[in-house]
Parts: sequence; C-alpha cells; structure tokens
Amino acid sequence: MQSAVLAWYDEHGRDLPWRRTRDPYAILVSEFMAQQTQIARVLERYERWLQRWPTADALAAATPAEVLTEWVGLGYNQRALRLRTACVTIARDGWPRDSGALRALPGVGPYTAAAVASFAFGERVAAVDTNVRRVAARLGVAPDALLPAVRHGDWNQAAMELGARVCTARAPRCGACPAAAWCPSHGQVTAQPRAPHASRPRFEDTDRWARGRVIAALAAGEALPAQITRERLARVLATLRRDGLVEQGPSGVGLPGKTH
Ligand code: SF4
Repeated sequence: MQSAVLAWYDEHGRDLPWRRTRDPYAILVSEFMAQQTQIARVLERYERWLQRWPTADALAAATPAEVLTEWVGLGYNQRALRLRTACVTIARDGWPRDSGALRALPGVGPYTAAAVASFAFGERVAAVDTNVRRVAARLGVAPDALLPAVRHGDWNQAAMELGARVCTARAPRCGACPAAAWCPSHGQVTAQPRAPHASRPRFEDTDRWARGRVIAALAAGEALPAQITRERLARVLATLRRDGLVEQGPSGVGLPGKTH
C-alpha cells in the first residue's frame, strides 16, 4: 500500500517549492504559513519572505513590526511573532536536531516538529495533520503504523496529499485512490453536504477580520478602519494588546516598537 501511495505521489503530487528543499528554515516558514492559510495564498508570499529573510539568523534580526508588516494578509498574526521568536532561539542555540527538541520552540506543535524533522533531517517520524489522521482512520490503522522503513519524508507528504486531494473529509474519491485495494472504508464513506452558509457569520462581521484590518492599517501607516465601530475597535485592540501584536504609545497604538 505504501509503495502504491508513494508511486501515486511521485506522479500526481503538487510541485510545491518547500517540497524541493531540505533547508529546515525554509520548511519551518512554509509550515508556519500553511498552519491556517490556504496553500494558494501561501504560494503568493513564501518566496518573497525567503528573499527578504533567507535564514533563521536574518529573521531573528528583524523587528516584530517588520515581521508583522510582511505577514499582513496571511491571517492569524501571532504566528508571525512566534516564527520570529523561534528563529531568535535557533540563532542563539542552533537548530534542534530532532522532533522532540523542535517541539520546545514557540509555535511548534507535534505536527510541525515532525514535519521539519522528517523533511529536513530525515527523522523517521509521522507528521500527523488532520488529513493524515482522517486517512489513517479510514484505513483502520494508527498514523504511526503507516510510516514505511524508507522515504519517511516523502511518505508524510504523500499521506497529506492523499488526504487533501483524494480522501477528503466530505467526498472521498475512492475510485481514484491508490490505497483503495487495502482500505476497509473503500466506497463506504458517504459524501457529506456542506454546512449551510447561513449558520456562519460573514467574515467581515468577525473580530478576526477586524484584527487583520487593524494590523494591516498600522503596518501601512494608515488610519484605523472607519467602518469598525468604536466599541468593536476597543474590544479588538484589547485582544491585540494582550497578544503582543500592538502596543499603546503616548499618542496612539502601533505595531510593537513602532508607537509614538
Ligand atoms: S479508498 Fe476511499 S476511504 Fe479509503 S483511503 Fe482511499 S479515498 Fe479514503
């Protein structure tokens, strides 16, 4: 089964830039960006980030305000600060060489640690994201048990790719699946309809949207968005201050270190 999935991945896997490198820093950046952002959006920003800060040392020397400004549009801005803080630790202490030590870095959970360890350092460890967890559950095995003896990093990529593109949550395409011959769930998972949109608030009505608008305005040196009510702005600024994303200066709020 692993051989069939790896052969499928070799032929059909997307050619993503972070799959062509073993540089742990480039892989760490891609994993932070992809944690909560769609791949298409990450692709637009990843190369530019690496050109601006090509190493962990370079990112460690950047200011929090510079990092937040470059991150604008990727969302969940705390990731930018955690990535920078992780690089400060790496610049000081060197790269942790295994997944256990990588997990001590800020913002690096079990999945990200395993991804960097297997893709950059060749450690035989399963990188288990929601896609891999779902594929393994449908195959009826623990994710760790799927890890082959060779090509661990490629296997992790292949399992994620399978979950993202074939064994999807709502409508698995068993007819196109390279693991179908070994899968007890083959043809058994019924397609799930999408939840109706009416039950979800519009993105523009969420505080997450407002937080992103405020950070973008401060990064661009523009006035705070007028369409956000005063009450909502006060609430959002309080959470941004709590998260260290903005600071209060004598004449107003600004990005960290950029208040006046
Ligand atoms: S056969 Fe179907 S359920 Fe099983 S792993 Fe493939 S896509 Fe998923």
